[in-house]
Amino acid sequence: PGVSVIFAPHDEDTHIGLKKTGCQGFCELGPLVRITKNDETVQYVKVQLDDCQELFERAVLGDEVVERLLYRKEKKVYRHPKEIPFIAKQTRIVLENCGRFDAESIDEYMASGGFSALEKVMFEMTSEEVIEEIDKSGLRGRGGGGFPTGRKWKQVAHQKEKVRYVVCNGDEGDPGAFMDGSVMEGDPYKLLEGMMIAGYAVGAANGYIYVRAEYPMSVSRLRHAIAEMENRNLLGDNILGTDFCFHMHINRGAGAFVCGEGSALTASIEGKRGMPRVKPPRTVEKGLWEKPTVLNNVETFANVPKIILQGADWYRSIGTAGSPGTKTFSLTGAIENTGLIEVPMGSTLREIIYDIGGGLKEGSQFKAVQIGGPSGGCLTEKHLDEPLDFDSVKKFDAIVGSGGMVVMDQHTCMVEVARFFMSFTQRESCGKCVPCREGTKRMLEILEKIVEGRGEEEDLDRLEELAAMIRSMALCGLGKSAPLPVISTLKLFRNEYLEHINEHK
Ligand code: SF4
Repeated sequence: PGVSVIFAPHDEDTHIGLKKTGCQGFCELGPLVRITKNDETVQYVKVQLDDCQELFERAVLGDEVVERLLYRKEKKVYRHPKEIPFIAKQTRIVLENCGRFDAESIDEYMASGGFSALEKVMFEMTSEEVIEEIDKSGLRGRGGGGFPTGRKWKQVAHQKEKVRYVVCNGDEGDPGAFMDGSVMEGDPYKLLEGMMIAGYAVGAANGYIYVRAEYPMSVSRLRHAIAEMENRNLLGDNILGTDFCFHMHINRGAGAFVCGEGSALTASIEGKRGMPRVKPPRTVEKGLWEKPTVLNNVETFANVPKIILQGADWYRSIGTAGSPGTKTFSLTGAIENTGLIEVPMGSTLREIIYDIGGGLKEGSQFKAVQIGGPSGGCLTEKHLDEPLDFDSVKKFDAIVGSGGMVVMDQHTCMVEVARFFMSFTQRESCGKCVPCREGTKRMLEILEKIVEGRGEEEDLDRLEELAAMIRSMALCGLGKSAPLPVISTLKLFRNEYLEHINEHK
């Protein structure tokens, strides 16, 4: 994600404010500059270095002069970001502030109502009421599993052990996914507020954010936000004069995909090798340092403040009955508008790919979309009008996962796609259990054999047998879902496997 810059004149005469924001989400149209003046916002797209003079003049001299210059150069000017088709069809709750706010300014966050949800829970609600509200909202974990968040918090709150922790998974290891990174960079205070509300609800005094190694800007913005909050007594001991104490810590991952798994993540924070363990006990019973732990991902926590402020019924009015709210996706591949999007759960692939994504690139025809990252599956033309939510995509051997979405056109070889994802998961297997360690290796060997023209029809049966064995016997989610791209492509594109096998006979 890039860094956007906003020119915001503070003073009619001389002063112009320059804000560093987080990613605005429209990767395809970047670099982006947004100018806000006299309550009007103008969005510039595809800005070049030699446009800077004009943008500066616009901010100082006013619309007319620079509109003319921009018009002469045939630049596209949108009077409001919402006029951009890519953004007009989205519903932004988690990403609402990304690209709009100075991500380092606590004052700006507070001026837009930031920390009112925290204040509300601390002064108007009991911890039971907070959990009840989150439970009623139907919020489900956005990290992939879709487990009900309120139920998880309740399970932690009911443990006998009084030392509890809140842990945020910011490891986001799916190739091409950057939703969580964008929130940590673009709206760090919202994540911290969501975690603190969880801490208040379950009686935890410490929160840990486990951030992916490749996200240095997330780390620096979170550190800055934590320091600012400590200075204002919004973090630390006796927050705002109450008994509530909460301290925040940041841990950097070392780039292992398996550390997105709960028990591997908590082991890594403890300084041990990041490997999943056998469950039970579950993380809610024995998580970090063997204590009851709420573990949710960035997107899940970022939903919390708005639910507290606007209520569970409001949240349930968005999305589907079984999966309320919105979902962020990173939309990539052979599509016109790549970028970061947020849509109500239950949106169809057609709405995402054609209305928001602008359809396929010129000369391309839609073939499939890989959803759910390296452990996800494929959806094709016949799924274009199916509503997407946690439960519906499972029927098609796919998962919503954390929200990776790669659109593929007629030139994509689906066997190559399966091989690519299998080589990723095989490399990332921690090696603790045999079905995953050896099974994914054997599957990869067979896929390579087929792609190189040395395959036989019996190999397809072997792939299916191995996939079933790994799915049922692997220890953790990484192994259990690793065969999904193969299962899904074998079901939908078996002819392509056969073409590879037969063309070298
Ligand atoms: Fe490790 Fe794979 Fe077993 Fe998970 S399934 S514990 S990643 S070897």
